[in-house]
Amino acid sequence: MSTIYDPQNIFAKILRGELPSTKVFEDDVALAFMDIMPRGPGHTLVIPKVPARGFLDLPKDVVGPYMERVQTVAAAVKRGMGGEGLTVLQFNESCGGQVVFHLHFHLIPRWEGIALKAPGSAMGDRAEIEACAAKIRAGF
Ligand code: 5GP
Repeated sequence: MSTIYDPQNIFAKILRGELPSTKVFEDDVALAFMDIMPRGPGHTLVIPKVPARGFLDLPKDVVGPYMERVQTVAAAVKRGMGGEGLTVLQFNESCGGQVVFHLHFHLIPRWEGIALKAPGSAMGDRAEIEACAAKIRAGF
């Protein structure tokens, strides 16, 4: 099994602007955008700009700056969406649940009594995702 970084992965294409995404945050370190198959309202992904396949591939000097962005975006996701809680997920390799092989953290706001949908269960409604993105941008 290959564990080499593939520059043709979907998130690398999003980073290069070759594929569209609904962005909520971007700076020199990270990009955050809405998941197209949200496991709940406001499901957001944060990716580093460096080409890292998984968490263990992230250069040490980028770990701090990247995790700072993850936390900043997490706060905006929770605040903007009015979440009661927040689930943070990160998967490595297929056996670990990873599907797209560019490092990403999932940020999913949570409410009491509302379960997460299964991964990849359905494409999200475009207008609903845009509305969530607007709320999250206002949460910074
Ligand atoms: P993983 O299982 O690799 O941690 O999660 C990959 C995530 O990327 C999934 O939640 C999936 O819905 C999301 N995803 C897959 N393809 C695309 C895409 O083209 N655009 C966006 N915005 N999200 C995607």
